[in-house]
Amino acid sequence: MNKYYLTTAIPYVNAKPHVGHALEFVQADVIKRFHQLKGDDARLLSGSDENALKNVQAAENEGISVQELVDKNSKLFENLAKKLNIEFDVFERGSSDQHKKSSQELWERCFKNGDIYKKTYTGLYCVGCELFYEKSELNEKGECFEHPGKPLEEVSEENYFFKLSRYQDKIKELIEKDEIKIIPSFRKNEVLAFLKEGLQDISISRTNKRAKDWGVEVPNDPNQRMYVWFDALNIYQSGVGFGWDDKEYKKWWPADLHVIGKGIIRFHAVYWPAFLLSADLPLPKAIFVHGYFTVDGQKMSKTLGNVADPLDFIEKYGADALRYYLLSQISPFQDGDFSEKKLIEVYNSDLANGLGNLVARVARLCENSGFKNEPGKTFEIDEAYEKALNELRFNDALSFVWEKISEADKFINEEKPWELVKNNDEKVHGVLKHSVEQIKEIAYFLKPFLPETAEKIEEQYESSEIKSSTPLFPRIG
Ligand SMILES: [Zn+2]
Repeated sequence: MNKYYLTTAIPYVNAKPHVGHALEFVQADVIKRFHQLKGDDARLLSGSDENALKNVQAAENEGISVQELVDKNSKLFENLAKKLNIEFDVFERGSSDQHKKSSQELWERCFKNGDIYKKTYTGLYCVGCELFYEKSELNEKGECFEHPGKPLEEVSEENYFFKLSRYQDKIKELIEKDEIKIIPSFRKNEVLAFLKEGLQDISISRTNKRAKDWGVEVPNDPNQRMYVWFDALNIYQSGVGFGWDDKEYKKWWPADLHVIGKGIIRFHAVYWPAFLLSADLPLPKAIFVHGYFTVDGQKMSKTLGNVADPLDFIEKYGADALRYYLLSQISPFQDGDFSEKKLIEVYNSDLANGLGNLVARVARLCENSGFKNEPGKTFEIDEAYEKALNELRFNDALSFVWEKISEADKFINEEKPWELVKNNDEKVHGVLKHSVEQIKEIAYFLKPFLPETAEKIEEQYESSEIKSSTPLFPRIG
């Protein structure tokens, strides 16, 4: 049995999850379920980045303690996953003792190898990104591109630094040779262009005062806390035993895939491998980078009040409908636009009319003809489907399934089993046997994408007498 270990990014939990988180969770879940379908031992980790300064600020705004805020908000992310039928095997929290211990172990390894040193630094700091920026990296107003409208703070303090510059050539080589594979390739080129500019050493701690006594303590220095990315990235390891269960760690690490959004590629493709190289630890094999969302053509923002809450859509249309929309209509690699109108259109055309109608129609014909169902054959993963999923082209893998739905529709329309039923023609059983097999195969291929629906179809089509049931996707509007 092959192991396959993948992760979502580790969200800040300073606010509730939006539809971008839903996309990433669903993508990761499909990859995990696809590997399970292949017989792999797959593990999916998510977690919450609880040591960020943003959480401290959000807690101050709400008038509660930081721990209360992260306890409350991390549950919202776990709940969203549950509602989307996603089972995280591990949900590792940044404020757990296990994670803190693990991150201190990572720090000590880098320190021992001479990659951590102390110096006074003055720089422009974006609280939103938790990052110091060079002037050249900012827009003409001196703001970061991720957080326009929020002026940067000039911060001067004594911090620990990590010798990132030392790993520049090594990381460049690893990425060029796809030893850390970045998908899609245009993101790989972006990282290589960034590396070409040259790497500066980075601050990996802040004073207790600026951290407001929150976060992971730096080993042997009570006045400093870890800079958030140093420990946040380590959630990928701390969740599978690093620093606390060596057997577990060796079983799962290195990660086969990190699923992330385009805004945090630098941390994953450059900083993270550098920390691991410094600590003499194995490197993740691949990084998949998805785009961002607009909503009805506009950037999602709290000020515009258009932050799409995935729970609303799950409530209205069901988890599988939202999963289907995100996976079939949103490009896996480019930015996408979320539109409820489009979701309803696709729901009606592909799920209600396409899949739902086919499943109901064949069940009705089986019922009316006294069809005796037999245990079916087992299915195998098709090459085109597998290739699409190995390349994370979710939309193409779904097109493959929908072609099978069209084929099944075409078969029924040509064979007209309803006429055979009317004429008591024995041939009807052979025709329906074929249609039933087609539907079971469709359910098999749908498992990673629409797990709830696939299970319902399998249940309905496993019984010896297939009966009609309530529609899988009642039409909307
Ligand atoms: Zn920023």
